[in-house]
Amino acid sequence: MKLKDEFPRLLSLSTEKEVSLECVVQRKEGVGGWHLNFRRSLRSWEEVEVVRLYTLLAEVPPLRPTIPDSLRWLRSSSGKFTVAAVRKWLAAHHGPKLMIPTLLWGNVAPPKVQFLGWLIWKGRVKTTDFLQRIGVLNSSVSNVCPFCKAEPESLNHIFLMCRGIWESWTELLNWWDVKWVLPTAVVDLLHWWMGFKGKKIIMNIWNLVPMAMFWYIWKIRNDCIFNGGQPNLKELSESVKWRVALWAKSNLPALVTSSICSAAGI
Ligand SMILES: [Zn+2]
Repeated sequence: MKLKDEFPRLLSLSTEKEVSLECVVQRKEGVGGWHLNFRRSLRSWEEVEVVRLYTLLAEVPPLRPTIPDSLRWLRSSSGKFTVAAVRKWLAAHHGPKLMIPTLLWGNVAPPKVQFLGWLIWKGRVKTTDFLQRIGVLNSSVSNVCPFCKAEPESLNHIFLMCRGIWESWTELLNWWDVKWVLPTAVVDLLHWWMGFKGKKIIMNIWNLVPMAMFWYIWKIRNDCIFNGGQPNLKELSESVKWRVALWAKSNLPALVTSSICSAAGI
């Protein structure tokens, strides 16, 4: 709480707006009580405000004149400001949402793939329902999913909920020997993905999987929409494994390369 906000009238009447707290406290100790100077006699309700101010000041901890005045970062026990302390505080208040950019950008996939992941996370990828919503396509255009041709094409459907897609996610997770409960939204999938724990070299590979999956799904979807291609989702998970292996081979140390390549059968 700031006293200037709590007592705006007293501040406007004060003739000592720039005087330091130390100076006022020293005067208090000299005369035996608070003494504030105003530019005119106070009205009765202003006197009440002064009494309220003094009552409030009586409740605050005593000043310690031997300790120099300084800024203190209340979010860390040491009182020192550090980036790590800010991050810790943000993580506590914003939870996994804060961590998703680390998943999307902190991997060795090509930048265009990372960018697609970011668009998907933000719900800005141009699915048919999105284009209709922003008025680029009119509502008479068919928005049926190009994979199952049964449900409307939405972000969560084509990247997660469409049958052939979630079966591919499940196959990939079987590859990792991980069981899961199908999330209902891509954002939830990313949160869940971030919860996986492992050694750093393992995490480098793990974080590539959704990147490659998103990339291939979008590639197949566009081929269906724009080239009249037929979706072949049966090979999707194998294609993703290959792509992860190739990205790892290009960008990660030899130790990782050999293990991932043997796992992918390359
Ligand atoms: Zn579908």
